[in-house]
Amino acid sequence: MCDVRQTGRRFEPDVVRKDFPALNQCDAEGRSIVWLDSSATTQKPQCVIDALVDFYTHYNTNVHRSYYEWGQRATEVYEGVRDRLATFIGASCPEEIVFTCGATEGLNALAEIIGQRYFQPGDEVIVSELEHHANQIPWQMQQKKRGIRIKGWTLDENGCLDLKKLDTLLTKKTKLLSVSHLSNVLGLVPPIKEIVDRAHVNGTLVVVDAAQALAHVPINVKDLDCDFLVGSSHKAYGPGGAGFFYGKRALLEELPPHHGGGTMMETVTVDSFTPAEVPFRFEAGTPPVADIIGFGAALDYIRQFDWSDLLAQEDAVVEYAEKTLSSLPFVHLVGNPPQRTAVVSFLVDGLHSHDVAGLVCDKNIALRAGYHCCQPLMRRLNCPSGVVRASFGMYNTCEDVDRLAEALEYAVNVFKK
Ligand code: PLP
Repeated sequence: MCDVRQTGRRFEPDVVRKDFPALNQCDAEGRSIVWLDSSATTQKPQCVIDALVDFYTHYNTNVHRSYYEWGQRATEVYEGVRDRLATFIGASCPEEIVFTCGATEGLNALAEIIGQRYFQPGDEVIVSELEHHANQIPWQMQQKKRGIRIKGWTLDENGCLDLKKLDTLLTKKTKLLSVSHLSNVLGLVPPIKEIVDRAHVNGTLVVVDAAQALAHVPINVKDLDCDFLVGSSHKAYGPGGAGFFYGKRALLEELPPHHGGGTMMETVTVDSFTPAEVPFRFEAGTPPVADIIGFGAALDYIRQFDWSDLLAQEDAVVEYAEKTLSSLPFVHLVGNPPQRTAVVSFLVDGLHSHDVAGLVCDKNIALRAGYHCCQPLMRRLNCPSGVVRASFGMYNTCEDVDRLAEALEYAVNVFKK
């Protein structure tokens, strides 16, 4: 496998934006939409839409079991995505990639298969306060089911994860730690490598939730040495309904399947089965073939750019948003990470977060308000009405930020009247 992440199309946000047809629509007043909700879901480039249409128009079929040409082609393209995804995240081999329907499914699957194999009553699992509910509730379910104990890793006053605090939480009983690679609220990127190293010294497995990070942070699972990692297609310019989890091959081979059905088995009798090899052991039933093929097109799309150029430009827009928003006297940024990546959350004086999100719609701005599936974090931040979140993608520009600032002025003035 070769890493073709930098094939050298120059990254120019204004040009790139034209690749996303949904962003090229205008409202009745001729204004294009300012999409600042990419943490919820990203817009899709034309090549992703084309890949879906091509699949359904020309070779719609199931994978892995057909002799006819369409089936062979679908299998080849589908398995090609596994190869490219393995390359993209630096996995050792495609067998370390298990396809899922999204990050939530990936985290639930991991909690169940790891739980079945490793958890004993009294074992401890560390989960940070930063986490999305998708990285909290599956572990809480294991707590109920297997008598493990969840220990919360609290945030410091800046909304960051303190490694010294982690050292006090790790004990002989700590089987696993699960942490986000990029917070969907604070834009914080925790020091994952240091976290993994500390956990491993203690004999603790590490799951990384990279649902947000995949499109915004270069990921190399070999360098990170994390045991498992979860990602999602629709947050990385691909279709909804597809995602994956990564696991070190030796670990995956020790783990039992969590769902029964076709593909995941080798042999079946009326009262027993033997599981298939990895990764198929964890892919029971018909997978979301079209969506995974679309995910592959999204990876190809991202990989055509110089990655460092793309991320530097995205960071520059986020930095401009931080500066612009914090210069507005009625706006208060939430959290204080050393650097914000892809996300800026804030509060507006005198306005409920939902009112802000509603009022800026008048200016054709799409952003999100509320708890963002992070109720423990909202409690820690003391934000009972949630926060307003502007989240960025490769297609956002400084002009989008200027339009947001104008829309916020407008929202505050509507309230004053
Ligand atoms: N983890 C994080 C950090 C998220 O932000 C999200 C979605 O917002 C998820 C997990 C769940 O992802 P999915 O929509 O793919 O299930």
